[in-house]
Amino acid sequence: MSVKLVLLGPPGSGKGTQGALLSKFYGIPQISTGDMLRQAVDEGAELGKRVQDMLTRGQLVPDEVMVSVVEERVSREDCAQGFILDGFPRTTDQARALERVLPGGIDAVVFLHVPREEVIARLAGRLTCRKCSAVFSKRDSSLCPVCGGDLYQRDDDLRSTVEHRLKVYEEHTAPLVGYYRTLDKVLEFDGTGPVEEVARGVESAIARVIA
Ligand code: ADP
Ligand code: ZN
Repeated sequence: MSVKLVLLGPPGSGKGTQGALLSKFYGIPQISTGDMLRQAVDEGAELGKRVQDMLTRGQLVPDEVMVSVVEERVSREDCAQGFILDGFPRTTDQARALERVLPGGIDAVVFLHVPREEVIARLAGRLTCRKCSAVFSKRDSSLCPVCGGDLYQRDDDLRSTVEHRLKVYEEHTAPLVGYYRTLDKVLEFDGTGPVEEVARGVESAIARVIA
């Protein structure tokens, strides 16, 4: 059995957090394109140099770059039983490219609803682990409770950039919900509840789809 999922929702809606839980639950990799790009920047890789400015400004990286990154990633051995895409696709063209790359397409889209004000508050108070990419609220400790790594505020989590990322999301990514609805693949959730509660809802909805 394989499970191919896409996480959809505005920045700060909990895609990373839910993705990590689903990854553990199904034993399949979580593929965060944002994490992959940030890693490329940290390593000084060619890709990183190319995308660094776009990341800082909260602009989209060109579709052809993202499609080739993801196409290579999902073809690796560890994706044989499926995967969870977090941050891709982000445009309708990326979604179409994904359907071309994957025979049979994806199984389901997990769409997390979180109101704009809540998202802005979450991102402004969010710290990210440099080592394992887990996210925490600023009220928590200064070291990652998961791996002990350093916590830092992503430069694109500053308020001015957050507003821009939300605009980019509304304009380019939100229309994907309609695209996937026509394919009858969308599972919708209220993303404002406690993490574990959202996770239980998501897992039982997916179980019904892949049964
Ligand atoms: P968030 O979901 O919190 O906005 P991500 O970590 O998913 O943040 O992405 C951070 C940045 O990486 C985006 O603002 C964008 O610049 C780039 N990026 C990630 N995935 C994609 C994608 N599929 N297409 C274009 N740009 C992307
Ligand atoms: Zn960590």
